[in-house]
Amino acid sequence: MGSLLEGRTILVAGVTMDTSIGFATARVAQEQGATVLISNFGRALGITRRIAKRLPAEAPVLELDVTDPAHLAALPDAIREQLGEDATLDGLVHSIAFGNPETVLGGRFVGAPWADVAQAIQVSSYSLMSLAHAVRPLLSPGAGIVGLTFDASVAWPAYDWMGVAKAGLESCARYLARDLGADGIRVNLVSAGPLKTLAAKAIPGFEEIESGWKERAPLGWDNTDAEPTARAVCALLSDFFPATTGEIVHVDGGYHAMGA
Ligand code: NAP
Repeated sequence: MGSLLEGRTILVAGVTMDTSIGFATARVAQEQGATVLISNFGRALGITRRIAKRLPAEAPVLELDVTDPAHLAALPDAIREQLGEDATLDGLVHSIAFGNPETVLGGRFVGAPWADVAQAIQVSSYSLMSLAHAVRPLLSPGAGIVGLTFDASVAWPAYDWMGVAKAGLESCARYLARDLGADGIRVNLVSAGPLKTLAAKAIPGFEEIESGWKERAPLGWDNTDAEPTARAVCALLSDFFPATTGEIVHVDGGYHAMGA
């Protein structure tokens, strides 16, 4: 147990399984003293409610489809319902992405249909802004927003339009940092190495992306351990990064810094 996030209230959006990066983040945040709410949407909501019981303290589960304007508009009241009328948020974690594996991932870059590309970008990039906008009335000065990316500075096998969506997310984070900075709100991303989550398993050809990672990363890499990523997210949420915004912190064993 620690006290890095003592007294802070954090919404972690995007928790389905206990393999989710969002789950590890919620767990570490609670271990560091935070009050945590988690969210998910649709059919997986029941799974999230069961998984929420596996956290050190069962977290309230909110229904939130980031493509549904009604869910976004109702979010502040849903949070107040859980935490009381004076509720504020000190942290928001965006741990959300989706791309149709049949059409925009797995080597189908050229010729991908716009409707599916648009969906990937709406869910995986635009939603950082729409979610931040939705909770803005609750965000306290000094609050941190942290999202998850996968290094979008290069092209990967199989990642295709999700790579473009991540490039959009990275840019979105910088613009949000620009526009929310005056309110003392920091916006940063963690660029994680490959982790065996539901989202990753849904990418046809994910093994190609992760092959050789362990060997090339100077620190090595365990693709079943989301804790290093979760810890970095929590550090960025904390007041140990008070003057950092628009930043991307790599948590990938050092892979990104090696030429070969
Ligand atoms: P995950 O467990 O599948 O989490 C992704 C979450 O996004 C799921 O809870 C998913 O819900 C949710 N989601 C999808 N569409 C949504 C929508 N319209 N509204 C609200 N939530 C929605 O996989 P993860 O790997 O932890 O992913 C979390 C983040 O980390 C993503 O941004 C991902 O790109 C990023 N990341 C992952 C890796 C990796 O290797 N795994 C590496 C770097 C970055 P459902 O399960 O119900 O669809």
